Amino acid sequence: MIIKLNRIPLPGETLLGGEFVMAPGGKGANQAVAAARAGGNVCFVARVGRDVFGEKTLQNLKRDKIDIRHVSCDSAALSGVALIFVARNGENSIAVASGANALLSRGDVLRARSVIKASKFLVMQLETPLVTVEAAARLASQFGVRVILNPAPAARLPRTLLQQVSIMTPNETEAQLLTGIRVDSQAAAAKAAGKLHAQGVETVVLTLGARGAYVSAPGCRSFVPGFKVKAVDTTAAGDVFNGALAVALSEDRTLLESVRFASAAAAISVTRLGAQPSAPRRKAIDQFLCPASQER
Ligand code: ADP
Repeated sequence: MIIKLNRIPLPGETLLGGEFVMAPGGKGANQAVAAARAGGNVCFVARVGRDVFGEKTLQNLKRDKIDIRHVSCDSAALSGVALIFVARNGENSIAVASGANALLSRGDVLRARSVIKASKFLVMQLETPLVTVEAAARLASQFGVRVILNPAPAARLPRTLLQQVSIMTPNETEAQLLTGIRVDSQAAAAKAAGKLHAQGVETVVLTLGARGAYVSAPGCRSFVPGFKVKAVDTTAAGDVFNGALAVALSEDRTLLESVRFASAAAAISVTRLGAQPSAPRRKAIDQFLCPASQER
């Protein structure tokens, strides 16, 4: 729930004159929607509260043809929400109540085991409890399902989890927290990726905002430049990137082709306002990457 104001209210202050906007969000849901629109076959494992926000979330996910059989409605908790103030100068202030997200459990993951087993990838982020993320990663690894972990919001992670991760996709801030290296150059990105490899991560795709992404995998080190676009809102660029990356990889494209596909999807998303509304559909991504082939 977003209120746009002249400025952020001070503690104890009531400011009138705001404009209210409501938009679906949450990293996991954004990534699921991005993957579905990019052409993926997505099953979402999550929890919402039995309230209007939960209902709306389910409706939105269904509209994007996401399998919601493992999204449970919790009668003991409210849906996760974020209250966001956005000031005219672009500054923001965000308060998050995780609600039902904080209750996503190992039991929820185990109930989804057959879906996880049948999947090519398990994509996760860190807006749900770490123990649940760890349990899901373990299960996926047992089944030989590859794990993509977007380590956001930034957090320190146990080595046991990192060892189960096939592909990690930190942005610069997250990479710095995980490795202690300030990613301000390609050399620094390579060094940070090296540290993550040493902790057991097989492949690192370090996203560098408008500059692009640094890819480091066994036998492959490459910088994939970002697409030049006119950015209007970079919210959820990383989420769109992760969703699209999983889809391209699941279609057996090479890692570098997949990163290019993900970069295109994310570049389109930054030219549009909002988080989920900005995630592009497959046709738009294909057209962006290869305009000529669509005109024929
Ligand atoms: P996050 O949103 O998680 O902070 P980044 O800012 O690194 O992640 O963005 C993720 C990806 O989105 C980048 O690797 C890039 O491909 C794309 N991207 C982000 N910002 C822009 C931009 N201004 N122009 C073009 N592509 C962008």
